[in-house]
Amino acid sequence: MNKLKIAIQKNGRLSEKSLELLSECGIKIPNGTQKLKTSSSNFPIEILFLRDDDIPQYVEQNVADIGILGENEVWEKDRNVEIIKKLGFGNCRMCLAIPKEEIYTGISYFNNKKIATSYPRILNKFCKKNNIKVEIEEIGGSVEIAPGIGLANCIFDIVSTGSTLFMNGLKEVETVTKSEAALIKSKNLSQDKQLILNKLLFRIQSVIYSKENKYILLNAPNENLKDIISLLPGIKSPTLLPLAKEGWSSVHSVIKEDKFWDIIEQLKEFGAQGILVIPIEKMIL
Ligand code: ATP
Ligand code: MG
Repeated sequence: MNKLKIAIQKNGRLSEKSLELLSECGIKIPNGTQKLKTSSSNFPIEILFLRDDDIPQYVEQNVADIGILGENEVWEKDRNVEIIKKLGFGNCRMCLAIPKEEIYTGISYFNNKKIATSYPRILNKFCKKNNIKVEIEEIGGSVEIAPGIGLANCIFDIVSTGSTLFMNGLKEVETVTKSEAALIKSKNLSQDKQLILNKLLFRIQSVIYSKENKYILLNAPNENLKDIISLLPGIKSPTLLPLAKEGWSSVHSVIKEDKFWDIIEQLKEFGAQGILVIPIEKMIL
């Protein structure tokens, strides 16, 4: 049977999470291999370990059918591939940063400045859109040291915490865009490979959904049920069960992890008690 070929980063920030995602999808991959290629024992998929920069090209040329990499690399390489799903990890910002003692005057500050970056295409697009004229100095890595050694006045790079910038005497002044890991696919997949991809996508969606959501159980006084339910949308609507104690109900629902603390506060205000929040192992929609 034809296997779906997926390219993931061999060694880097996305490697572990990419393998973890496949494993959470129930796909078994032999571990401890230093090979460039391996196959799953229980899913028709072959994994290719590559440098992230090369993944768009390989997917465009059908050497790999799909790939996992940062959106930033996909935009920069601008190959003929399609982003089909954001994966919720590898989150970062793409920022312009300047020496911290400089006074930032707004975007026109960058006019006639020399900017070091590994992302010339994305930067160029941004500068054109904002009508600024800059000189772009393309370098492969360690971009943050460029101003310190006199290679450029400022930089355009990926930032997650900002600590690298700070250590190099720089400050972030503009966020150009945000990026996260994404699944890309080739534009000419055969029908049998598309079927395998559909299966994989279904699993990925379930895994991501269950990570983003929590199962919540609580006891609510009946007189406030309406208010409490309005805070808990649930998949369709919350489940209600009467409690043995008169005037009380048990409410079950699913809530978004990131809304969690706000909702809990409000639930307590409406008299909810015994609130349990439980991780969801898998969620099939
Ligand atoms: P490769 O050897 O595969 O070319 P790399 O050095 O280009 O690796 P990494 O530093 O491993 O790449 O980063 C891979 C991706 O991780 C980035 O393209 C970006 O999408 C994401 N990422 C998330 N946070 C950060 C960060 N703080 N710095 C760099 N990349 C980050
Ligand atoms: Mg790279």
